[in-house]
This record gives sequence, structure tokens and C-alpha cells, in this order.
Amino acid sequence: MVTFVHEMGMRCIYFLAQWDLVLLLSRHNDLPWQLLLHFNNQLSLKSANLTQLNKTHTNIPKLRLGHVGAQFWAAYVPCETQNKDAVKRTLEQIDVVHRMCQLYPEAFECVTDSAGIRRAFDAGRVASLIGVEGGHSIDSSMAVLRTFYLLGVRYMTLTHSCNTPWADNWLVDTKEEKPVHHGLTEFGKKVIKEMNRLGMMVDLAHVSVETMDAALDISEAPVVFSHSSAYAICNHQRNVPDSVLLKVNKTESLVMVNFYNDYVSCSHNANLSQVADHLDHVKRIAGPGAVGFGGDYDGVSRLPDGLKDVSGYPNLVAELLRRNWTEEEVRGALAENLLRVLREVEKVRDKKAQNAEAPNDDPIDFKDIQGECRTAYGYSNKGDHPRLRPIVLVFLLSFLFLL
Ligand SMILES: [Zn+2]
Repeated sequence: MVTFVHEMGMRCIYFLAQWDLVLLLSRHNDLPWQLLLHFNNQLSLKSANLTQLNKTHTNIPKLRLGHVGAQFWAAYVPCETQNKDAVKRTLEQIDVVHRMCQLYPEAFECVTDSAGIRRAFDAGRVASLIGVEGGHSIDSSMAVLRTFYLLGVRYMTLTHSCNTPWADNWLVDTKEEKPVHHGLTEFGKKVIKEMNRLGMMVDLAHVSVETMDAALDISEAPVVFSHSSAYAICNHQRNVPDSVLLKVNKTESLVMVNFYNDYVSCSHNANLSQVADHLDHVKRIAGPGAVGFGGDYDGVSRLPDGLKDVSGYPNLVAELLRRNWTEEEVRGALAENLLRVLREVEKVRDKKAQNAEAPNDDPIDFKDIQGECRTAYGYSNKGDHPRLRPIVLVFLLSFLFLL
């Protein structure tokens, strides 16, 4: 911190003096995934103590050092769970976040809205929110989506690195996978509308460019890229192209820059200044209101020098101030831009509730989800129990025979 002050002079000293009053809301952190990998989510294990954990980019002391005031924790389960136990696995990751809040009440407070974030921050706790990373987690079910909302989920990434039966992922842009839907299917569009109605943020990290375009076109609320960087700076397909950044600007949406070296510098090595280049670019094309910190801590293996774990955020703030970002712009990137989006999403939700907009109960076509792991209840014959049909047929045939 001493070097930080020395490098930045008076401006930084001034910012630092107020630092404890400045909220830092990071968008994407995969600590829950690490808890599953290392401890099978057994938080009661001595080795899983979050005040001492050192295998991870994130622990409670590091969050304090990094001045992280609020955090979206990712409820992530890999694509290989698709059509298998994705829903159960996702519920387990949601559960582990709730248990983090219960076990460390002095450090974390689970909240579900913009007002809750402020409340927890003012009380000196890390406001903890949940995002589901990958549309495969809802198993093409509006009911599961709504239930996740009830459990506190406030954003969903439409895909992870696999297509769902209703949206294409970024790997179709690398040609590693074939486009199946060219963006969103009709059901996919309904998912966006239902998310708007619920008040759940639409996250476009990991989706294909066609899916980005489709979602930006139809979402009634601003959307977010929870952990994506700028394609013009590093032409990795996980990053956001300028054409989409212009739409982000038009829709007052948000791009939260990913720190993963491979997306920052298109190589295995990167430094903090290169991360700031992405932030500069997003700011230039999409506007200062469209920038945020995406992190991706504990979800990636290679991180830039100066940003090796969550305690490094102040270094990035120093770099932005050095690049003549105004204090307001820095506060925007730290938290205010995401809070604005969250408030807008809540406004759209409230408006729809006032208009008594009904939940969407359209099921996906059964042919789109057929597989060994599924039963067809409800699909066989609308309104009828499938077993009743042969009986009705026999009855009709005997009636005809009698005639
Ligand atoms: Zn990710």
C-alpha cells in the first residue's frame, strides 16, 4: 500500500482516505466451485476454514485486503452435467453460498437486491449474491429458473461453454462447435423475457456473438457480461467485439472485464496494465457507465502480475487513476455501474408486477430435450394421463362394433 500511495501522489492519498467508504462489487468469483473440488462442500472441515484457506485466490483476509464490499458468487457446474445432474449440482452450489453466510456472519451477508448490498456494506460485511453460470443449469425449465430466483439467484449466464437446447455458446464462433440455433430459439427468447419479469440479470459471458445480439435486442432491462474482456485488445472469442460494445452503450448495459491472462493478452502471461487497456477500451467504445471488474478469481489458473488474488484490486484502481480516470469513473467501475444495472432490472420487474404479467408456463418442445434421463410426463397428451388413452380407444372400438 505504501508504494501505491507513493506512486499516485495526492490524488491517490485522497481516494485512499475515503477508500473504506467506496464499495467494490466484483461480479464473478468461483470460490464455491473450489469448495466443491477441494472439500466436497464440507465447510465444517478444519481445512476448509475460509479465514485461513490458502489454496484459493479468495479467502476472508484477502477479501478485506482487496476492499471487496460485495461479491457475486458463481453457482457453476460444468457442461458435462447437462442432461444429467445439472439441477441438483447447481442447487448444491447455491446451498454452499448460503452456508458460507451462515458460518461466517461477521464476514458475509447473503442479500438479493441493490438495497441489501448497501445495507451489508454499511455493516462491514461482504454483501453476497448468487449467479448461476450456465443455462444448462435450468435444464430447459422455466420452473427451475423461477425456483432459482426464489433461492436468491440474481443473474444467469445463458450458456457456459456448451450449447443448450435454446442458446448457442461462444465455441460456435471458434468453429469448434457447429451453430445449432444461430443465437436464441423461441424458447430462449422466452427465457430472457421470464428473467426480465423475475428481476434476474441476463449474463452474456460465454455466449456466441449471435446470442449476444439476440439477447441485447430483446431484453427489456440492461444486460451484463459478468466476466468478458474486449475483443479489439485480445481477439479471443470469449471477448466482446466492438459491434456488441456499441449495443452495450445503446442499451446501458455493462461489460465486467475478465482478468484471465488468456483473455487479457491472448497468451499465458499478462500484467495489470494490460487489464487496464481492456477497461480503457470498453470505456472508450461503450462509455464509462459500461465498465466493471469481472475478476474470474478461482475460476481460472493464470492471472496477471499485480492481480494474483482478490487482494490486488487496489493496484488496479491505482492504475486507472494514473490513467486519468475521474474518481466518478473509478467508482462506477468499482460498483456503481453494476448497482445501476441491478436497480434497472428491479424496476423492470416491478413494472411487470404492477401490470400483473403472468409467469411463462410454456414448456420446451419435448423433442428438444429427449434423452435417456427424461420422462415424458405432461408431454404425452395435453391434459390426459397417457395410461387412459388405450382404455378410451378400446371403449370407442367396442362402441363402433355395437353399431
Ligand atoms: Zn466463466
